[in-house]
Amino acid sequence: MPAISTLTASRQFPDVYRIPTPRLSVVVPCFNEEESLPELFKRLAAACRGSVRDSFEIVLIDDGSTDETWRGICTLSAASPNVVGVKLSRNHGHQLALSAGLSMSRGALILIIDADLQDPPELLPQMIELVEQGADVVYGQRTARLGESAVKRGTAAIFYRLLDQLTDVKIPVDTGDFRLMTRRALDVLQSMPEQHRFIRGMVSWIGFLQVAVRYERQERFAGETKYPFSKMLRLAIDAVTSFSTRPLRLASFFGFGFGILGMVGLAYTLGSWLRGIAVPGWTSITSIFLLMGSAQMFVLGIIGEYLGRLYMEAKGRPLFIIESLVCSEGTGCIDAVAPPTHASA
Ligand code: UDP
Ligand code: MG
Repeated sequence: MPAISTLTASRQFPDVYRIPTPRLSVVVPCFNEEESLPELFKRLAAACRGSVRDSFEIVLIDDGSTDETWRGICTLSAASPNVVGVKLSRNHGHQLALSAGLSMSRGALILIIDADLQDPPELLPQMIELVEQGADVVYGQRTARLGESAVKRGTAAIFYRLLDQLTDVKIPVDTGDFRLMTRRALDVLQSMPEQHRFIRGMVSWIGFLQVAVRYERQERFAGETKYPFSKMLRLAIDAVTSFSTRPLRLASFFGFGFGILGMVGLAYTLGSWLRGIAVPGWTSITSIFLLMGSAQMFVLGIIGEYLGRLYMEAKGRPLFIIESLVCSEGTGCIDAVAPPTHASA
């Protein structure tokens, strides 16, 4: 079977895009982030210049924004040869937008960062130093989360710990996608074609030396979170199902437990009937019926989650569709408005 996806989107925008290799690529997914863009560029570019002089590119991915984000990206790209803009055909979600940006990045080192400046670009020199000391991945680990609601902090804390219990891969707690990686780590990540992507987990799965940089997560620079509860729940389910089949095992145990209970109930009922003391009672019947019914639904639901994911994977659709690409002339990049050669069915 051919490799799924447009993971190597450079296939769509071939060799001409691949000419120079900057030392650092910064990949930033942006969904309705028009207000943050100028400040983001200012702080990011300063941090990059301080570490790698001019040998960097900032890849900004517009994930189907409905505000003026794309215009902002084009303006930055026209003003700076270091900016590459990638516009996706619609909102694909954070993890796929990130995947698109990673596939377009050319640097020897790759930094992933959010557009809202919650994670400080100023940590870059420290992260690069750790890579120079031999790490392949340097991830940011949050010691505090400022300006986020108690519900968000609480659910995030529970999620990371639950995930730790459920998965065999050690995914560090309290980390997001803010991280610096070497090209060889990214190459392995790019070779993983799955549709439901939980990138921080996938990076942990790769191995190599991975070290933490601890920091305080700041408030959003502007705007609201683009991760409402529904998206967070989806990410959490993706995370668990991508890295663990334990819920399936749990479903079997659950089914087995209720099976035993059913047997005990049956023995009791038969015993009562034999002793002639069986009293017609709807309470017990109804409760058993409800209990068994909900247990079955629960187990079926878990199986359904995995089955649905298998179905989506089997389709082998591209992960993302790039609509446009902008960057300055002379950077080896092309200005393209091209439909992908193998659009989704
Ligand atoms: N994002 C995206 N597509 C989406 C949702 C979010 O590209 O559908 C981007 C968003 O612009 C930001 C990053 O992903 O750069 C993280 O989102 P956000 O800051 O809203 O999440 P939070 O920090 O609140 O968890
Ligand atoms: Mg944020």
